Amino acid sequence: MQAMVNREMPAHKRVALVAHDHKKMDLVRWVKRRSEQLKLHHLYATGTTGSILSKEAGLPITCLFSGPMGGDQQLGALIAEGKIDVLIFFWDPLNAVPHDPDVKALLRLAAVWNIPMATNEATADFLMDCPHMDRAFEVAVPDYAGYLKARTESK
Ligand code: PGA
Repeated sequence: MQAMVNREMPAHKRVALVAHDHKKMDLVRWVKRRSEQLKLHHLYATGTTGSILSKEAGLPITCLFSGPMGGDQQLGALIAEGKIDVLIFFWDPLNAVPHDPDVKALLRLAAVWNIPMATNEATADFLMDCPHMDRAFEVAVPDYAGYLKARTESK
């Protein structure tokens, strides 16, 4: 069993926004609909998604690299470092993408680090309507120090 420790998520969450190409306009509409609430948080996005969103929704967004050029991996690294609290990923289940391994890695790291993650619009709405979204919240994350100790001691 994986040992866990508590981490406090701040009231102002660091929210990552990603949409595959056929889902980008859905995400734009969703962000506009939720903009009053999203304004209270710190927004991050992969390159193309973020550029479109800042133009269309007028919200300040930290843009990483474009997904296929490494942006999904950058997000995964931020999640592992505890620097992203929530992932909203409008993933496209009907079209293949060239960076599928990166997408899987991002979803995997979000699961490993136990961050709330929405991969469709209904779940994104559930997350935004959750009272934990706007207040500090304790979440269990893997005990990395313990993990490393156990692995090095067993060698
Ligand atoms: P993009 O990347 O925002 O640069 O299109 C999203 C993705 O990972 O597909």
